[in-house]
Parts: sequence; C-alpha cells; structure tokens
Amino acid sequence: MSRPVRTSEFRRRMGLAEFTPPASSHQIKAPNVEMCGNHPEYPQRTETVNHPLLPRITDTRLDRFFTGAYASQHLDECLARARFSGSPHVKLTVWSAPNGGKPSFDEAIRSLSEAEEQEIGVGFVFGLSWTNHWVKCELSIPEGMRNTGEQVIFEFDPSCEAMVYSTDGTPIHGITGGPNTMKDGSPGEQEDRRVEHIIPAKAVKAGKYTCYVEVTCNGMFGLGPSRYLHPDANRTFPLISADIVLPNPHARGLRTDFRILAEVSRHPSAKATGLAQKALKACDDIMNAFIRGEGQTAEELDEVLQRCRRIGWKVLGKLGKEEVQSLAVWKTEKDRPAEIWAIGHCHIDTAWLWRYTHTQQKIARSWTSQVDLMDRFPGHQFAASSAVQYHWLETLYPKAFARVADYVKKGRFHAVGGAWLEHDCMMPSGESLIRHYLYGQRYFKEKFGVVCREAFLPDTFGYASQLPQILRSAGLNYFFTQKISWNNINVFPYNTFNWAGIDGTQVLAHMTPVDGYNGQCTFGEIIKGIQNNKNLGVTDQCLFLFGNGDGGGGPTPAMIDRLERLDSLARTNPGVPTLKIGSPIDFFDDLCRQSEGGKTLPTWRGELYLELHRGTYTTQACIKKGNRDMETLLRDLEYFATLASLAAGSYEYPTTEIREIWQEMMLGQFHDCLPGTTIKAVVEDNLEIYSRRSDQARKLLDSALAVLRTGEEGTTVIEPLRLAREEVHESAPGQYKWLSTNASGLGALSSPSDLTLPSAASDGSTYTVSNARYTVTLSSKRITSIFDKLNSREIIAPGVGTSSAGFMIYEDYPLTYDAWDAEIYHLQMGKEVEFDKVEVKEEGGMRASLVASVNFGKSSAKLIISLDATTPSTVASTPIHVVAEIDWREQHRFLKFALPLDIHSAYATYGTQFGVIERPTHRNTTIDQAKFEVCAHGFADLSEAGYGVAIACRDKYGYAVEGNTMRLSLVRAPTSPDPETDQGYHSIPFAIMPHARHVAESDIVQQTLRYTNQPYILPGSYSLPTVTVSGDASSGIVVETIKRGEDDEATGTKTVLLRLYESKGGRARGVLNLADFKVKEAEWANVLEQTLEGDEGKCEVTESQGAWSVALDMRSFEIRTLRLVVE
Ligand SMILES: [Zn+2]
Repeated sequence: MSRPVRTSEFRRRMGLAEFTPPASSHQIKAPNVEMCGNHPEYPQRTETVNHPLLPRITDTRLDRFFTGAYASQHLDECLARARFSGSPHVKLTVWSAPNGGKPSFDEAIRSLSEAEEQEIGVGFVFGLSWTNHWVKCELSIPEGMRNTGEQVIFEFDPSCEAMVYSTDGTPIHGITGGPNTMKDGSPGEQEDRRVEHIIPAKAVKAGKYTCYVEVTCNGMFGLGPSRYLHPDANRTFPLISADIVLPNPHARGLRTDFRILAEVSRHPSAKATGLAQKALKACDDIMNAFIRGEGQTAEELDEVLQRCRRIGWKVLGKLGKEEVQSLAVWKTEKDRPAEIWAIGHCHIDTAWLWRYTHTQQKIARSWTSQVDLMDRFPGHQFAASSAVQYHWLETLYPKAFARVADYVKKGRFHAVGGAWLEHDCMMPSGESLIRHYLYGQRYFKEKFGVVCREAFLPDTFGYASQLPQILRSAGLNYFFTQKISWNNINVFPYNTFNWAGIDGTQVLAHMTPVDGYNGQCTFGEIIKGIQNNKNLGVTDQCLFLFGNGDGGGGPTPAMIDRLERLDSLARTNPGVPTLKIGSPIDFFDDLCRQSEGGKTLPTWRGELYLELHRGTYTTQACIKKGNRDMETLLRDLEYFATLASLAAGSYEYPTTEIREIWQEMMLGQFHDCLPGTTIKAVVEDNLEIYSRRSDQARKLLDSALAVLRTGEEGTTVIEPLRLAREEVHESAPGQYKWLSTNASGLGALSSPSDLTLPSAASDGSTYTVSNARYTVTLSSKRITSIFDKLNSREIIAPGVGTSSAGFMIYEDYPLTYDAWDAEIYHLQMGKEVEFDKVEVKEEGGMRASLVASVNFGKSSAKLIISLDATTPSTVASTPIHVVAEIDWREQHRFLKFALPLDIHSAYATYGTQFGVIERPTHRNTTIDQAKFEVCAHGFADLSEAGYGVAIACRDKYGYAVEGNTMRLSLVRAPTSPDPETDQGYHSIPFAIMPHARHVAESDIVQQTLRYTNQPYILPGSYSLPTVTVSGDASSGIVVETIKRGEDDEATGTKTVLLRLYESKGGRARGVLNLADFKVKEAEWANVLEQTLEGDEGKCEVTESQGAWSVALDMRSFEIRTLRLVVE
C-alpha cells in the first residue's frame, strides 16, 4: 500500500525547488467578487475555511430549532410580540348548564346574565365529562396593541372542545383545546389544536371586545383514556389559557417555512432529486442566521426573522405577501392543470366515540371554522357530505347554517355525496341504501338547488355489489372512497377505475392514492399522491382531502399555510407534484374527460370487499336486529298504507311521518353504528330510536290495516311480500296451526287432512327428530347426521375444523380494532362445543323438537332443532328449524354454528341487497384467503350440480363457507369501545334448507324471503288491492317496496311506486298484475322517483275489468322502479 505523498515532499524527491507563491497572489481577493466575463473569477489561492454541511448534525438540530433546553434561542419563543392574561385585560364569567344539558345560545346567555356572577381565570377546571359551560369573555385590549394595524388574537384553550359565539348569537368558529397531539395522544405533527380567535380589527381599535364561548367537556376523540376505549365519565378539563396575544407574523411564517423544509430534507423521494439536500442546506443556513443577541430590539428580531425567511425562499419560492396571495389557497384556478386536487374536508362520524347530540356540536364547530377560513382565504374550499348533518345545523344552528348556505351558493362549500349520511354499505337492505340517496338528494336539492353527482363514502367498511346500480339510478355517476387501502392482506390494484356491480352498471371510481381522508398538508402526502397512484398511465390526478377528521375539526389555518408552501415549492421545483384547490365534482368531470368516459381505465367487477373489519357483521347483535326489524316494519307500513290510500279516499297516507321514521332510523345505519363499533351510549341511543319509532310505525300500520278491514268475522292471513306459503305457524308458544296464503299474499289458518306429522325420539344415547323429509340425529354430543329422505342423501360429511354440526367457539383477539376485526388466525384457535345434554322437547304433533344444551366458560347455550308437519306439496321446501339460545358471558370469544357438508364446490352463493353474489370456498390466492368471513343478507348456500344446502337467517350477517364447511357467525365479545358488547341473552333463529338443483336453479331466494319474513295473522276479514307477478320465466322477480310518491302531498297527484328486482342473476319475463289500483299512467322511474327520460321511461299498461297489467322484461339483477299515477 503506498502512502499519500505531500506536494512538498514530492518536489524534494524530484529534485525540484520548494514552490514559492508569487507575490501578487497575496493580493487575491475573496472569491466570487471579481467577474471574468459572466463568470466569477476562480481564485488562485485561498485561506478560507468553509464548513461543509454535515447532514447528521443538521438533521438532529432541525427539531431543536423550535423548542428545547435553550429557551431564549428557540423560534417558538418569538411567536408572540406580547401576551396579556387576567385582570384588567381579560374578564371571564361562567355559567354551567345543569344536568348535562345543552342549552341554546339564547337560553345560555339569559342564564348567564341571571346567575350570580362567577368569575374565573386560567386554571379553572371544567367538568365533568360531556357537560356544557358558557363563558362570557370581556376583553380590554392593551393600549399598545390598539394601533399596530396587526392582527390581535384572543387565545382561549379550555383543553377540550368549544365554540366561539358573537354577542348576537352567531357561531363564529370552533375551538379544539389541549396539547398538540396525534390521535393516539402522543406529541406530534398533527395540529389538532385550534385555540385562536381573531379579534375584529374594529374592536381592537376601540379597545373593547366581548364574545361568548360554549365549552363542552370532551376531546376531539371523545373521552376514552386512549384511542377506541370506553369514555371516562369523570374527566375534567382545565382552562390552559385565556390571553390577548399580539402575534409575530414573521416568526409564524418562518415556523411554517422551516417545517416544510425540514420535512422535504428528510423525504426519500426528495433525496433522490437533490431537493432534500437543498432543503437541508436552507435549514442549516436559517438556523445559523437565527441569532438572538442580548438586548435585541423588536425591530432587530424582525430583521433576523425576515432574513431567515428569505433563505428558505431560495428553495420554497418567494413567499412575500404579494406572491402568497397569487397562490392556490388565495384564488381559484379552476382550469389550471394540476396533479393534486386539494379540497378541505372534515370527516365527522355521525356517532362513534360520542353521541348524536355531541356530533351536532361538532358539526357546528367544524363547519363554522371553515366558513371563517373562507372569509380569510378567498381560495379556500371545503366539501362535506351527509344531508342529516346539514339538517341538524339548519334546525339547531340556523345562523351557522345561513353562513354555510351562503358559501354553498358561492360554490366554495360543497355539499357532496347525495346521501342522508355516510352509511354502512354491507348490512342495510337494498331499500335502505336507496332511501339514503332519495332523502339525501332531495334535501340538497331543496335547500341548495344542488344535485350531487359523486357518491362520497371515504370511511365505509366495504361496498356492496349493487351499489353502482343504485348510485346511477340516484343520479350519481362517480364514486369516491379510500377505505379499501386499509386492506390488511392485499393491496387493491387500482386508484382510478370503473367499478361495475353485479348487473354490469358502472360508476367512475377514485380511491385516492394518498390513502386517507384526514390530510395534514405535508410534503409526504402530496408525493404519495403521485408515487402511490397505480393508474398513472391514464391519469396522474388524484383527490386530496385535507383537514382533521373523524372527530371533526377540518382544515386549520396551519394546514392552509403549509398548502401555500407546497404550491409554491411545486411552482419552483419541477418534479414536485403540482396542486390546486378543486371541488370533487370538477375533479371527477376532468377524470371522465381524461379517461374518455372511463374507456381507458380498468374495470373492477363485483363488491369492493374490505379486507378488514370482518367482525362488524356480528358485533352488537341488538343494533343489527333492531335495524332489520325497522326495515321490515317500514316496508310493511308503506305497503299497507299505500293499499289503504287506494282503498279509501278519506285515508291520508302519512308521508311526513313515514319519512321522519326512515330518516331517524337511518342514523343507525351510519358506518360505525350498524357495524357495532360505537361506544355503549350510542348503542343505547339507537335502541331508544328503534323502540320509539317502531311504536309509532306500528300505530300507523294498525290504522292502515283498519281501513282495509271489511268485517269482524274469522281470521285473515296477509303476507306482506305477497308470497304463497304453506307451512306450520306457531300461534302461541307450543301451539301450532297450518297457514296458507295464495300468490297475492292473502290466506287463512286451516287444518289440512293430508298432513304427515313429525316425531322425535331417544334411545338414551342417540336422539332423532324426523318428518317426511328429514331425519336429524344427535349422538356423541354433536349433530352427526341430517338425512334428506326425499333426495336420499346424507348431507353431513367431515369438513374444515369439524366433522359434525353444532356450535364452534374461537379465541378472538384481533390485532388493533377490537369491535371491528376478527382476524384470520381466530379460525385456527377454535374448537367444537359438545352438548352436555340432549332432550326431546316436543315429541310430535305439528312440530317435533330436540333441545341440546351446553355450559361453557361463564356462558350457556341451547340449540333447538325442530321439524314440521308437511303435506305432499310442502315436503320439498320444508326447512330444518334451528334456534340458538345463548346466555353470553364471554370476552374475546366468537361463537358460530358450523355445518360440514357432503357437497363439493369451489364457490358458495350469498344473498346480498337485490341479488346474490358468489365467493370462493377455496383459498388459492391471497384474495381468496382474505374472504374468510363475509357479509350476507338472508342466506348463504353451498351447491354443486343437482343439489345444495342453504343456511337462512334474518338478522345475522356474518357467514363463511370454507371448503365444504358452512359457518354462521352468532355472537362476538369484543371489549372496546363497549366493554360489555353483546353480553346477555340472544335468541337466534335460523334454518337449514337443503334443496334439489343448484342454487341458481332453485327457489332458495323465495324460500329465504318466506323464512325471514312473517305474515300478519289478523282477526276479521280484509279486502286489498293486489299485486302479483305471473309468467313461466318470472320466478326471479321480486316486488319489494310499494309506497306512495314523496311529492304527492306537494303536487296533489296520487302516485304509487313499486320497486322490483331480478333476484337470481338471469333474464326474467312476466306480467305484473295490479287489481283495484285504478291506474291512469305508468312510467319507469329512477330511485329518486323521477320518470326516466325518453323511451326508457315508457311503460305499457293494459286494463281489463279492474285489473291492470304491465309486461316485465328484466335483466340479470336489474332493479326497476315503476311509477303509477292512480285515481
Ligand atoms: Zn368514519
């Protein structure tokens, strides 16, 4: 290895004289001073020592620029020029609303003025949890601040949420107090804190200012001791500050500049282009220029700060007042091309870790904060969904609503989504999904003249396969989400794509590559908007929603300031994504143009299955049952009330009441309610709504039925879905009658002579129950055999995880989200539950039953298995009735019913809204593996050619078919956010329905409708207008909803709407027969009840002797709405 040789040594070795610099070189000046042409002269010699940038040292130093051990040397020490607290400048008096009340402004101010004055100051403690306190704030502006011409701020931090009101009761903006923390409570970048109220310039000059603050004792994420936990009822919140502050705008500006530069300096993609190094150098230079000398005057400090800012601007681009006001957040640049379309947003969960009553306050706080920002930043725009949230603002905060409505009119506050709220998509019925858009679109049209064209469901837990068809029928061509990016197994392959439902209807879908809806306006987010975009070949555009969300808040001024810097950075540095402020609808229209109407985009068919939150199909059984009960009751109420209004001119269809019931019960369909992921108080609120609204609906239904009643004699059976039935009916516990209805749904109770009765028996170790169709055998503490006599088949065979039928129990400890998730590994932690005891419950007669019982853990459960009497015409469709009665006292256990079958098929079929979908039973790929727990409506079925078995259940939604084993999920026991989730008694009826032929060729859809719906057994005789469908190829057609038109009251026209769908997945033809409907006109309509344009709306109706008929020709899974004008 050779040693490095110094120049002098080299010269000596070579026999050369020592080098002596020429005398003239002493006169060489500092570099870059003398110019040679256009280039600086490169000096011959130098004695200068330049300190190179040492990245690790500078990087460590970045975070210490703001705050740390050397208080006087940190930027955060300069943010205010002056600050005054307490007397004589700040006088605060408080009145606390008693009993946890939420008084209006007027009530509160009256009480505040009448109450004995209670003066408070910093350190006062508000409490307890959820209570409201009204503070009158009387400010005397210090002399020195009155004529500076600068902004003066009232900083009020109650360490919880609050709202500032003007003295005339106008809500001005929200306050989110407390430390500047991440959502999990750790200190971080997320600037949730918003505690500054700008004192109007006029009041500053006058020296006096008064405002009111409503302090509400909860944090942005409720009151859990940490994320997603049950709220602490005893929390208190200290008043941290109530100060008059004169901010230093230069220091604040520098702070934002520096934070963006620091982030850029650390970002891997900026490192690849050299931008990171430039940013780090700028940070280093800023920190070196930030010198706080002894006795520094305010002017000197300002000079230092401005010098520092100018250093940063070499990278960020100029950010003087002039330049800033030409940037995106200050003016609308609709036609400017940009990669990132930024739009302010505030996801407010309609209920979650807080109740509806708290959400109402969150809406007012968050949205007034946005209109306040619009007043200050002329380019700021904001999008908010959920008609019900606007409705609450309108009714509870009319002055705030007027401010919002004004900006809606100006095209800056965008009402989006077209839905009543951001609903769950998996468990509401098809008709419920329609109602979200019917009532949502009607509200936006009526209040703002806005018809939404983009569906907006960023946080819903998966998207059902009929949603595209429902959306298109409601006028929505576009669909926005981000939730599928939460998949914990597979990365969804597209960001921008055509999403086609099971009938082929498509919507243009965008799933933002930013993977979130609570953007903070960071460099990393806008880079992700490009780097994570999987469809760059077609479009490099993405939608970027920024603003604090979930618990409300929305964009903060700090975010808008950061957006300014990012915009400026992009204008100065090619390679940084360009951005602009733009509305979702403009974004989608542009996308549609760019993709030639979607032609250049890939297409995804079928459901958008979320590979997460699979426990939500089961958690909080009471909400799912309550929702299903309401959906059924409302369907029946609308049907009977419509018939009553046709039968008697004097009967007034209760349009308003029905709409109000729908709208309140739909709160429970919010994307945390129906999935069961809210705190307990919200569960209780929903149960109260169900109870109150179902009482009201039943009364209305009884009055409608009373109109249809024609006599006192006998008993009438009315089947609300107009299904022909023949079956055993349990009229009272242990008492059975034979029930039959005809194709128009009318029938009676009877005692047919050709019944074959069932029987149950035991030899002490084997228990059997039999009827003309089946023999079910329990032996060895499990259900070991179900023999189908009609088809000569044993249906049970050893399967996945079990070789017999019965309960299975699993350990259920998900990774992160307790109420939400059941993870794939729970399936490997399950075991069969063996019955302790089996007994014959009913030996025979119309029904024979066995009851098998078991105690496990702290719980007990029974399985009652019953077979019914049959006639020759019912033997092929009689089900095996099962009731699971469970006293559930477990935690983190998952109870299911498993049925291993002697059936071989790679796919199982599941009921869904307005149709069925197939999912794999194999686990070939990770996409198949992810679907280990899925959502179904009504039934799941495993069929092979010639034969199949379905399990039908009315209000359970979690199913799985793995290999040859079917599982129905019965009950879970997560402990957060509700520590007592699903504890107590559950009665879960379900049916096992073996059938000849493959499911697609069977009548399982009709059998399920019969099993999951109950006929009405009514004393007296009834006469009703009837609706039937006839024709050989019509078996797939279901007429579900029959209702009166929403506009009938306003227009005076009498209309009837019928919702039909093809349920099996094939072409269906038939005739719709309407007796006693007095049809004047018939048209095809959309789900908004508007007649379809052109030929699409034309509908031939023929009349013959008081019966009207309409020819039906329906596509596979088509949903149609028939609008009749009647006399
Ligand atoms: Zn949400």
